Order: sequence, then C-alpha cells, then structure tokens
Amino acid sequence: MPDIIHLLPDSIANQIAAGEVIQRPASVVKELIENSLDAGATHIILSVKDAGRTFIQVIDNGKGMSATDLRMAFERHATSKIRSADDLFSLTTMGFRGEALPSIAAISHIEVKSRREEDELGSLLVISGSKVEKQEMVAAATGTSITVKNIFFNVPARRKFLKSNETERRNIFTEFERIVLVNPDVEFTLIENGVETLHLPKTGLRQRIVQIEGKNTNQQLIEINEETTLGKIYGYIARPEFARKGKVNQFFFVNNRYIRHPYFHRAVTTAFEPLIAANEKPGYYIYFQVDPDTIDVNIHPTKTEVKFENEQALWQILMVTVKESLGKFNAIPTIDFDRDDAPEIPVYDPSRTSSMPKVNVDPGYNPFHSHRTETPQPKVPAFGWEQLYKGFEKEKELVDEIEGRTPATLFKPAGGDRNLPETELSPEHYQYKQKYILTSVKSGLMIIDQHKAHVRILFDKYLEQIRNKRGISQRVLFPEVLELSASEAAALPSIMEDLEALGFELSDLGNHSFAIQAVPSEIENAAPAALIRSMIGKSMETGSDVKSEIQESIALSLANLTAIPYGNTLTTEEMLLIVSQLFASPSPTYTPDGQTIISVISDAEIEKKMQ
Ligand code: ADP
Ligand code: MG
Repeated sequence: MPDIIHLLPDSIANQIAAGEVIQRPASVVKELIENSLDAGATHIILSVKDAGRTFIQVIDNGKGMSATDLRMAFERHATSKIRSADDLFSLTTMGFRGEALPSIAAISHIEVKSRREEDELGSLLVISGSKVEKQEMVAAATGTSITVKNIFFNVPARRKFLKSNETERRNIFTEFERIVLVNPDVEFTLIENGVETLHLPKTGLRQRIVQIEGKNTNQQLIEINEETTLGKIYGYIARPEFARKGKVNQFFFVNNRYIRHPYFHRAVTTAFEPLIAANEKPGYYIYFQVDPDTIDVNIHPTKTEVKFENEQALWQILMVTVKESLGKFNAIPTIDFDRDDAPEIPVYDPSRTSSMPKVNVDPGYNPFHSHRTETPQPKVPAFGWEQLYKGFEKEKELVDEIEGRTPATLFKPAGGDRNLPETELSPEHYQYKQKYILTSVKSGLMIIDQHKAHVRILFDKYLEQIRNKRGISQRVLFPEVLELSASEAAALPSIMEDLEALGFELSDLGNHSFAIQAVPSEIENAAPAALIRSMIGKSMETGSDVKSEIQESIALSLANLTAIPYGNTLTTEEMLLIVSQLFASPSPTYTPDGQTIISVISDAEIEKKMQ
C-alpha cells in the first residue's frame, strides 16, 4: 500500500492559513496597513474598488524592502519582526507571525513594488495564487505599494461568503478606523472607486477622533489620563448626555492595538451607570499602554482578544479614572471630597428603634428616566431653622431683620467672620434631591449617597448570608418560571449553592427552565427571575472560578438590584437607620466595586465659599 500521508504543498498550506488570517477584504486592508506602519510610514494611502472585492491597494512611504527581502516576505513564517520565541513576549509591532503576505498571495493576484531609500532601483514582484509570475527591477518611489486583485479568485466557497458591498465596505472602514485612531501622527488617505473620500492629515489624538467622527464630537469628549505602575490609561470618554441607545463608539486599544474587552467595558459602564439610563451606551476611546510582558496578544488569530496579567487591578483603576473624569469635568455635580479626612461617625441612638425600610424592587425602574421626567418634587423635610439658632437668638433676630432671607444669608454670621460652634448646628438628617443624606459631622458637612450606602449594607449582609448559609427563605405562591439560554443554564450550577444559601429555591423543569419556588425574604416583591438572570450574567462576566469572587459578585448584584433607588423619599428614621448600619460596616466609605459612598465638605471649604 502506498503511503497516504504527505506534506501539503505550500500553496495549499497557505490557502488554509489564509482562511485563518484573511476572512474578507477588510482583513487584507488591516494586514497591509499594519505592515506599512511597522515599516515606519508617515503617509499611507488606501485605495479600494468594489468594497475591496476586485481591488485593494496600499501605498506607503515606509522603509521599503530589498529585492531579496521582498521575495522572502512571501515565504510562510517569513518575518523581520521576531527571531526567537522569546521575542513573542515583548512585541511592539503589529504583525509578527509572518503569515499575512503569503496568505494574501495564496488567494489573490498580488503585485508589489518596493524600494529602500538607499537603493537606486526598486523591485517588482507579481504573484498569483502563491505562484511567482514575475520579479524584476523597476523605478519606484521610496516605500512600498501593494496591490491585491480579485481576492478569493481561487476559493469560490470563501467568495460566496462575502456579504453585500455595503457590509464589506463597512468592515473595511471599521478596520481602517481602528488603525487611524491609534496613529494620529500618521497621515492617511482613503480612496474609494477612484474618489478620495477621506483625508486625515497628521494631528493629535483628540483631533484625529474629531477628523473621523465629525466636528460635533469635540464638545462631547472628556479627557481621561491616569498613570500607574501597571501602565498608563488615557483617551476620551463622551459626556453622559451623549450616551445613546443605538450604536456608539466604544474603543479600547492596548499598546496601539484595537482590542475587545468585555470586562473592561463593564468598568466603564459601571462608572457611567449612575449618570445614564440603563439602556443607553456611553461612548469611549480608551488607550492602555502597558508593559508588553504583561499581556498575551496571541490568544486569537485576529488578535482582538487580549489577556492582561493585572486585569482586576486595571479594572478598578479604569473604573475610578473614568468616574473621576466624569466628576472633574462637571459631568456630575462635583463634590470636592477629601479622602484623608476620616469621617466622624454619627452617634447611633439605640433607643430610637425603627425598622429597615421595606424595599419594593421595580425591575423596570430607571432612576434617570424618572429624574428627567415626572419626578415628584422632593418632599423637603422641615429643616429646623429654629434649631440652628439655638443659643444664637441674638443673631436670629438680626438675620430676621434682613430682607430676602435665604439659606445663604442665614449661614453668614451677622457679626463678621466669627466661627459658629458646630455642635449646636447639627441638624436632623436631611435628604437632598432624594439622592443624598446630609448630616453635619465634626469636620464638616457629610454627604452620603443613599443608594450606594444601602448597597454596601446589603452587600455585607448578603455575603454573610451566603457564607454562613443563613438566608431566610420565603416560599412564593405562584412560582415564576425562569427560562435560561443554554449558556446561562450551563453557568447556573456554579452559583446554585450560593443562591440557595441566600434563600432561593429552584426546581428544574427541564429545557433550561426552572420554577422559582422560594426567594430570600428581603426581596419578596422583586421579580426574582430577572434578578437571578442578572446574577448569572454578572457571574459569567466576572468569569472567575474562585468561590469567594463568585459569592461577592452574587452578593453585589443582588445588593445593587435591591438597594433603595434614587428618587425614594426617606423618613428621618430611615436615614438614621441607613447611616447607623453603614457605619457598622467595616468599610463604609466605598461600595464593594469602589464607588464613593461618603464624602465630607470640610468647614474650611464651606467657609471659603462663604467669604
Ligand atoms: P509580519 O508582518 O507578521 O512580519 P507579513 O507577512 O505581514 O508578516 O510581512 C512579512 C515581512 O515583510 C515583514 O516582516 C516585513 O519585513 C516585510 N514587509 C511587509 N510589508 C512591508 C511594507 N509595507 N514595508 C516594508 N516591509 C514590509
Ligand atoms: Mg504583517
């Protein structure tokens, strides 16, 4: 019997490789432009016809290739970018597998002209379906020009897979956009069917974004910039009011390479969460510069998935950075808080018994929607101006005489800048805009975010219940049916034990469906199916196998969903209870995901404002 195993001819091996690297005209565009950038080009011209089906040309003014190098470039795994396996881990160039050119040559007619500055003549190479048709010396400009014609001419199955011209054109533009957004210092020209459709002169990052997205974008952008030992995070986020339901621009780049990163995406949306409606998406252009040793770019052939070594720490940094920029640029009401200033703990009076406000969760609740539209005017509790003047009757009389009495004038001591003893000024808790609890503390005015405070309280409680299996279960009369997708159902077992510890009880109905027989007593009125689905989603996003992390993610999502929303009017009793429970927590100042719960405006700051 003859041997049946033999090596595939190179041309077929290249076609197979091409399937991995080159899926559509846009992939050719990406590989060619990246090569031009790697070659140090400062001006790159991309010209396409018929959405790249018949003609793709990239012309650059980069360093060019010698005749030998040009020929070599079309050998598989020929690359000038790595010499040993070690180099793989410290890569700063785009391509490195030496696969692009041979892959493109395997499935198209390709023509390359290239000249190095130091050479008198350039060389021309013509290859068709991996077969070299011609190589000769020619007159050529410094740099490289590559023309790819009739992509997939010899792979009909692939050709059939191509989508409409509109779609392929959009794909090309998508790749083009991702590249130009990290190379503002390079000039680009886009020519479509012989007509110049885009010209991007060399500029700065902000202007490059504006060049591509349009003039109106400029006013939308808020800068972010953070440098830490783990790397640098910079770029722009769009102001919250430009968040949209439909498509928005959301870009992450690491070391000048576009990446997808659902986990980091979540960090950004978490920072935006209190400012935009649940179904709106924030725009962002966020750039990471990290030590190449700390990322693994090669886990996916098209290289948009990147694994970071310090993913969780970067998540936190990113979230806080975005949040701070939103605050700094007045995207949210600014509170200048002083983190060093440890808040003074208000005294809890146990004789004032009250019960935790019962939480009615409305899963369709959208705090921003109601804020923007039919928010009932906050019921302002009687502030107790009278109390403010205890011991200052004289001043009161004086102030009462002043016309146009306003809180501001009330605060200004009538007799010069004498300090008012603050203990006497401690008012009842005051709810501001149905969002913050204000109270005076020794060092100044303390502002507590009602929702976040409650998140912290509930998180601690739920986590304790999960860990000690202490949740109190409440059976439901009409079990809601939870219908899961296959992937959600697959993730359910990993959190089932914790759900049961909280008090959920599910019975399997088959077909990824479950009846919710019992729920934790705290969430009696919530829609439990939506809650569970969201907890599964969160735990999938977290993507952790570590038990404690899964438990924290469950406790946090349940806390987020059941905490008192903004817009709820609180009684004084309820405020007191929240504050006292908050300060019973070992970490009252931040939510488990790092959001600020408390800040204090110092007396000094207040006084400065009142000068
Ligand atoms: P890789 O980019 O992974 O090295 P490619 O197949 O894309 O592999 O390119 C092979 C080699 O050809 C590159 O390493 C580079 O030396 C050379 N090359 C490709 N395109 C250009 C260009 N536009 N200018 C100069 N050299 C190029
Ligand atoms: Mg390459």
